[in-house]
Amino acid sequence: MEIQRKGATGNRPQYNTRAHYKQSGSFNKAALPPPADYFAQRGLKLTGGGEWRNAICPFHDDTKPSLRVRLDTGGFRCMVCGAHGGDVLAFHQQRYGLSFKQAAQQLGAWRVA
Ligand SMILES: [Zn+2]
Repeated sequence: MEIQRKGATGNRPQYNTRAHYKQSGSFNKAALPPPADYFAQRGLKLTGGGEWRNAICPFHDDTKPSLRVRLDTGGFRCMVCGAHGGDVLAFHQQRYGLSFKQAAQQLGAWRVA
């Protein structure tokens, strides 16, 4: 008599759900949040004036504002650890270790085809 095994292995689906992951879509840059809003939401306190603002760098253990960010483009560069990118998407990707698409989706800038 054969007893069917129950539990984690018995309930595992036979297909890989990742294979069903929708691959189509496109990046909608216009839907990215405004840099000032985005950085504020992420807890970055921007100081200074002009084109480049200063902030405590979240990419290293920063004690003084080493990060320079642009509010028009979302570009950023850290003077200490060298983290840099051209927009809030690049920031989001690096900050949370996401792929381009994941970051775009989280920021509401991924348009499903
Ligand atoms: Zn840094």
